[in-house]
Amino acid sequence: MSVVTLPVVDIAGRAARLRERFADAGVDGLLVTGLPNVRYLTGFTGSTAFLLVAPDEIIFVSDGRYGEQAAEQLGTAGVDARVEIRTSQAEQGKVLAAAAAGIARLGLEAHGVTWAQQRAFAGEWFPDAELVATEHLVEALRRVKEPGEVARIRAACAIADEALAAVSPTFADGPAEREVALALELEMRRRGATGVSFDPIVASGPNGAKPHARPSDRRIRSRELVVLDFGCVVDGYCSDMTRTVSVDDPGDEARRVYEVVLASQQAGRDAVRSGVDCATVDRACRDVIEAAGWGDAFVHGTGHGVGLEIHEAPRVAATARDTLGSGDVVTVEPGVYLPGVGGVRIEDTVVVTDDGADALTASPKELLLS
Ligand code: ZN
Ligand code: ZN
Repeated sequence: MSVVTLPVVDIAGRAARLRERFADAGVDGLLVTGLPNVRYLTGFTGSTAFLLVAPDEIIFVSDGRYGEQAAEQLGTAGVDARVEIRTSQAEQGKVLAAAAAGIARLGLEAHGVTWAQQRAFAGEWFPDAELVATEHLVEALRRVKEPGEVARIRAACAIADEALAAVSPTFADGPAEREVALALELEMRRRGATGVSFDPIVASGPNGAKPHARPSDRRIRSRELVVLDFGCVVDGYCSDMTRTVSVDDPGDEARRVYEVVLASQQAGRDAVRSGVDCATVDRACRDVIEAAGWGDAFVHGTGHGVGLEIHEAPRVAATARDTLGSGDVVTVEPGVYLPGVGGVRIEDTVVVTDDGADALTASPKELLLS
């Protein structure tokens, strides 16, 4: 799996699409403070930056650690921005204040700005502008993945598939959960991943009843359920997959739970299509589990968007109000958790199309390891 073969993504074209949303949002410019959003608009991967998207220019501000990197990454992406490197926040504020002088209504990203930042922006940096709380302007663009973005997520999913195939033969030897988590990470990095998209979950036996259990020193035993939920990052884009397996037959009840969750997950995947409400996909999964009598044991939403962040829009849940559209990349991950017994969760990452869902994760869904 070579990262070199990934198709290009049109980073430079995104700011223009963002500006098209300004009128509806009631702003003339936007101060982008969320780092995944800065990355989406510029290609910059560093740990601190402000991006001011003004009506007719883009000003990128970061600190002295990132001068060379910012010039390189914005240049490679073809982003036409003025790069200003200032080491103190006060100096960064002066640059942004001057750049924003002509902006009457300046949007802030309400979900990411801290109370302290808002006070500084209103009192010191932009005292003459009307500051407008905006909701998810860049995130709404990020929802719809370009083919190049799907290709990156697909590559990350393929690496995770290969890692699981490489590691699962060791389960019969009774490794500790922590060892399995480490082996998965190692195999993913070996295949070109730059990191994990979140710390792997390896939950054996009764630990599987906790949906987000942390890998422990407990050793995997035969005849018990093992939940593995993990993913990696390729060129900034995340993958996410869960499989539940057992070394030898885990017994009637565990097999029954597995079959119900598998049917639920298939029902959810079958429901995914452009134009379908996210709540409808959640309902499709939940109906199968409720019919089997385990409705109360499905204790989380059905899924979430995946992209530059492991959890992003849209949510796939009973209370979600979004409707799926072509280019959304979402997970379908129902689960049943029985305290003292264990858990089953099965998760795929899929890309939404006009007529269905194209699965990006491809690991087999066999309960029994052969
Ligand atoms: Zn997951
Ligand atoms: Zn997930």
